[in-house]
Amino acid sequence: MSIKAGIDQITHILAVGSGKGGVGKSTVTTNLARSLASMGKKVGLLDADLYGPSQPKMMGDHSAPKGDGSIIIPVEKDGVKFVSMGLMNPSGKALIIRSPLAIKAIQQFLLGVAWGELDYLLIDLPPGTGDIQLTLAQQAKLSGAIIVTTPQQVASEIAKKGLEMFETVNVPVVGIIENMSGYSCPKCDEVTPIFGENGGKILSEKFNVPLLGNIPLDPMIMMDADKGEMNYGEDLPHIRKFKEITSNLDTELTKAQEQSKLYETEEMNITDLGIKISWSDGTTVELDAHKVRLECPCASCVNEHTGERMITSEQIPANIKVLGLSPVGRYGVAINFSDGHKTGIYKFKTLKEMSSSSEESFSV
Ligand code: ADP
Repeated sequence: MSIKAGIDQITHILAVGSGKGGVGKSTVTTNLARSLASMGKKVGLLDADLYGPSQPKMMGDHSAPKGDGSIIIPVEKDGVKFVSMGLMNPSGKALIIRSPLAIKAIQQFLLGVAWGELDYLLIDLPPGTGDIQLTLAQQAKLSGAIIVTTPQQVASEIAKKGLEMFETVNVPVVGIIENMSGYSCPKCDEVTPIFGENGGKILSEKFNVPLLGNIPLDPMIMMDADKGEMNYGEDLPHIRKFKEITSNLDTELTKAQEQSKLYETEEMNITDLGIKISWSDGTTVELDAHKVRLECPCASCVNEHTGERMITSEQIPANIKVLGLSPVGRYGVAINFSDGHKTGIYKFKTLKEMSSSSEESFSV
């Protein structure tokens, strides 16, 4: 049987991000992967932290992945298939590559790996909101993102940036996990909030995103991560915690998917008038090119800081046409207009909202 690379047979691709490093994002990702595998799910883990990969250590396996021609065969440990730059670069020396090469490496990890059939692919993102995060949001057809934060207000302020980035690219944030929520005493299981309280809860309320759960600062979590062993067969407080979060995640993901279906398209075509879109809910709409051009969301048409529109209806040729449509990830489309403007990426959500506001004049 020939081996195929790619993400076509993956049901849910989830990115796990955080605004800053050290909040336990990698620890949480490994535990979620193992917890899902212990529930009988087929799970993959892509370590996208090229500059500081932790997954070989946390998964407890440093074997170099085998290759078949140009296809990478992922390493498999405890029912989780995983790839990491740490497996390709066993010297442990810091990787020094520029952003375009880093993006290529990520594309290779996504599309050049024989992931096969998976229920979940979890992506351990590097901290922050840079090029790698955006490439993944645009190319990985993410089902959603998870934000890991800690209880301190300063950490949740930074996590907010991650949340905003995913919102901008229309990737639903399926939940927030608050890690290091107080110290869990190994003798009596009592949790003391040494880092303050409620950072995750406040973030969740502010952005109307579910809090999937809180994980205490527990020496066993750190020791498991250091050894690269997590025993999901045992009934221990931290294992129970991760299992509870995994089950909340499953529920929230189903809900988020129903939401994003509202903005899914079946077909998009260029017409004499502008664009004709058939939505997955069975409705079809034709939008006028002039009106769509006026709504261009790009930085030269809208002031990033004030939101003020910098183009007027009179500046757009009355007979403007749409010349090209290029899909961008799961969330939108780049439109090329006959006035030479092609920098606008229109979210499907925006087009759907324009559709309903122009229903009377343009619905077909
Ligand atoms: P990040 O990926 O956000 O940079 P890591 O997952 O590498 O953070 O975690 C940083 C350190 O904190 C690691 O040593 C890890 O074992 C430890 N750690 C993370 N979460 C917990 C926790 N809930 N309890 C105890 N130690 C933790």
